[in-house]
Amino acid sequence: MTPAADPFDWLPGTVVAVSSQTARARSLTIAVPGLREARAGQHVDLRLTADDGYTAVRSYSLSDVRGSRAAHGGRDLDSAGGAGRVGEDGSVRVSAGGAGRVGEDGSVRVSAGGAGRVGDAGIPSIEVTVERMVDGEVSPYLVEDAEPGDPIEVRGPIGGWFVWPPTEFEPDSAVHAVLPEPPGATPLRAAPVQLIGGGSGVAPLMAMVRARGRDAPPFRLLASVRDPRSRWFAGELDEAVRASSGMGGDSVAGAATGGDSVAGAGGDSAAGAGAGGRSVAGAGADLDGAAATRAGASDDADPGAGGALGAEAALRVDWVYSREAPEGEARPAGRLTRDELERFVLPASAHPLVYVCGANSFVEAVAAWLVELGHAPTRVRTERFGGL
Ligand SMILES: Cc1cc2nc3c(=O)[nH]c(=O)nc-3n(C[C@H](O)[C@H](O)[C@H](O)COP(=O)(O)OP(=O)(O)OC[C@H]3O[C@@H](n4cnc5c(N)ncnc54)[C@H](O)[C@@H]3O)c2cc1C
Repeated sequence: MTPAADPFDWLPGTVVAVSSQTARARSLTIAVPGLREARAGQHVDLRLTADDGYTAVRSYSLSDVRGSRAAHGGRDLDSAGGAGRVGEDGSVRVSAGGAGRVGEDGSVRVSAGGAGRVGDAGIPSIEVTVERMVDGEVSPYLVEDAEPGDPIEVRGPIGGWFVWPPTEFEPDSAVHAVLPEPPGATPLRAAPVQLIGGGSGVAPLMAMVRARGRDAPPFRLLASVRDPRSRWFAGELDEAVRASSGMGGDSVAGAATGGDSVAGAGGDSAAGAGAGGRSVAGAGADLDGAAATRAGASDDADPGAGGALGAEAALRVDWVYSREAPEGEARPAGRLTRDELERFVLPASAHPLVYVCGANSFVEAVAAWLVELGHAPTRVRTERFGGL
């Protein structure tokens, strides 16, 4: 393993796998020798250089950090999601995904050229998930053109606030002076986690879902997308919810109703997401008034109103749709409202650690509502992707 580089250095990386999320979004796994261990919630800067020397830099959240953790002695790459797998010889075998099948078993070994051999064990890899922006400069290349073997420079990982597990600050640190912890709250690392993503804002939240271990506190994800086809990681989330139903209480996941989108990349940027749809799968929960689509077992946790976390699921996923709800969904498409947010998310009385990510308008609206609803500002952490 090469020594970890300074996070402000540009490191040569190589795209080692690509896979489609939706018609407009794609995940890319990038092997980066020397990259420091990444934490869920962090982002990297990517630098692309054209033949004439022109460069463009954009930031992308990490949607999977397990390949980085594995290289630094954490979890096995074998469990690092769809893209990379460790072969018996310790090499990274890369599934070619949308880029084309290479080899009889559909895998390809990518020689990283100047970046180092990907086949070497211990090379950190990260995944980013990018939505193609209409008229964008960089995102269309990443979503449509980048292929395994392509070079790409990486700087990072960056960020120490919007991360899970959360950074714990010394009791006398300035952070606590400015943002005091709520009295009587569960210690930070044991606090239940509420994730709220608009559009591509689900990317770093997915890294958190993927990074959580069996001992993690209950996780809920509220994802606002424009239509059912825009659900990133839907199959994996459904599966994670199913798997988690044996870990904790209930789980909800699936396809639900909806909200709007705001969304990071994509184009539209609206602020909120509509009212709510949700889908439950695994164990159900009651939506306390809001229309819900159930697809699973049942649970008794009241998602909205309550605060009773005793029967809380290990993982629960709610989808809201802004423009087009799935067939049969009780809730019509529309933007999320403050009242719906209150019903969907863990109550302030449970002192959850809340992570909100998406386009600026989505994050600002949701964060302001959360504080109005009594959530302590120190427990509402935000990441803005830009846009309106
Ligand atoms: C910390 C951070 C993390 C990010 N993580 C992700 C990620 O995980 N996935 C992802 O797809 N994007 C992410 N972004 C957004 C990304 O950095 C780029 O802004 C985006 O891909 C557009 O780049 P582009 O070169 O294609 O568009 P540009 O050529 O830069 O811009 C084209 C048009 O799109 C508008 N625009 C730019 N960004 C957005 C946006 N987020 N929402 C709405 N309109 C926008 C611009 O105002 C402009 O009108 C992140 C941004 C930040 C700051």
